[in-house]
Amino acid sequence: AGGWLQDLVMQQRSEEKEMKFNKKRLRVISDAEKMKPGSEGVLYWMSRDQRVQDNWALIRAQKLAVKEDLPLHICFCLSAPKSELSTLRHYGFMLKGLEEVAEECKALDIQFHLLHGSAGEVLPGFIADRSLGAVVTDFSPLKEPLQWLEDVKKALPNHIPLIQVDAHNVVPCWVASPKLEYSARTIRGKITNHLPEFLTDLPLVEKHPHTATRTAKPIDWDKTLASLQIDRAVSEPQWATPGTKGGMAMLESFIDVRLKLFGSQRNDPNANALSNLSPWIRFGHLSAQRVALQVQRNGKHASQSVPPFIEELVVRRELTDNYCFYNKKYGSLEGAYEWAQKTLRDHANDERPFLYTRQQLEEAQTHDKLWNAAQYQMVSEGKMHGFLRMYWAKKILEWMSSPEEALSTALYLNDRYSLDGQDPNGFVGCMWSICGIHDQGWAERAVFGKIRYMNYKGCTRKFDVPRFERKFCPK
Ligand code: FAD
Repeated sequence: AGGWLQDLVMQQRSEEKEMKFNKKRLRVISDAEKMKPGSEGVLYWMSRDQRVQDNWALIRAQKLAVKEDLPLHICFCLSAPKSELSTLRHYGFMLKGLEEVAEECKALDIQFHLLHGSAGEVLPGFIADRSLGAVVTDFSPLKEPLQWLEDVKKALPNHIPLIQVDAHNVVPCWVASPKLEYSARTIRGKITNHLPEFLTDLPLVEKHPHTATRTAKPIDWDKTLASLQIDRAVSEPQWATPGTKGGMAMLESFIDVRLKLFGSQRNDPNANALSNLSPWIRFGHLSAQRVALQVQRNGKHASQSVPPFIEELVVRRELTDNYCFYNKKYGSLEGAYEWAQKTLRDHANDERPFLYTRQQLEEAQTHDKLWNAAQYQMVSEGKMHGFLRMYWAKKILEWMSSPEEALSTALYLNDRYSLDGQDPNGFVGCMWSICGIHDQGWAERAVFGKIRYMNYKGCTRKFDVPRFERKFCPK
């Protein structure tokens, strides 16, 4: 995609070469803070932010390497897929994005390595073998990547600094707030007060001035994808082209066509008003900061849509990292507020109007055509409309035998079929709907207790429900 937006961004980036790196974006994980002399390179261990440009972790790693006159390497550790959530949909999107990263690296004289195994197992040996002197990595608040970080920290020799940069959030998670926030209301001011400091231009990652003597092995991407033990029945959707270029093209079409509808029609599942950017943001193919900058700069024709879009992209999204970072019980009912746990317990034995199993839900075999249509949309397209995601999850609470089962089923379905799944947004989205995270108590009713309720009739007041059902529900 060589669209106008990409040209403009490249031009801006080259003008922004001298932009400073704000050190609040990083935290030093190791005891060692400074690199020792005598090493042969700097490593960016890429994990959540799978892109070259607009990546504060890579910007930091390159700066360090340039300062020490050293070559620059990037590693991605591909650990063995291990659950029913590992599908062709996710791995295909990820590996194609990484292939684009590897190509860009070649042009920039940065060595890109695809390592097979979990980071704790494979990185330390790689670092020792190449005599690398410092490791920079990106940030995720989720348990598994935090465990990888811990494993690498333990296995690295004491003298090698391990530095983590929050390259995903506009305002670094630890700067936005040092504690678990109660709701969007309590974090909004904290984030927006920091925007003048952090919502800045990003400097260009440039052709690296020091070539490595040992270059990276070539990667057979098709063979890599073919060798993985993944569920190939969950296929790759055609509408979403993986990688940064595909994401930039989607951003461009959003600004040109859909942004003007976002302000007024974002809750209408029949309208084409959303950005559709969540898969690229989830895999780090696109930087949310770049998206925010471009929408602010080029969205003047749709000025009423810009503030609500920034609210979703920055405030709501960064609130989910805050939740997962500071609440280790995310993903389980115990991670909900006390009032919500109590009300759900109080109503655990209420009679359910309908009772479905996970399999019936997965196969969209309910009495509710709207719910079935939303489930079909997610299974076939890899993305359910944002408004329906709330309705969909709340009905799972209503129709399963316990709130625990409802939450685990919603997470399973969301994370298996949504291309943007397995992300803090998914944990919080499901927990908002089912156990009131970041919400307040509402009038008490059966099954839901004080959890906010949604029903079919309410949907018919908001949008043309039969039209959506006809589109996605074959029966
Ligand atoms: P747009 O409306 O165009 O928004 C732009 C960006 O803002 C999104 O890409 C996303 O990064 C962010 N955003 C939008 N809405 C929210 C929100 N409510 N919370 C946090 N960030 C938001 N989002 C995911 O990225 N992955 C998930 O797995 C996921 N699961 C969800 C499950 C449920 C039950 C619910 C209620 C919500 C879930 N969301 C999830 C949040 C939201 O629905 C999606 O981010 C949004 O629909 C993605 O579509 P879009 O990119 O077109 O959004």
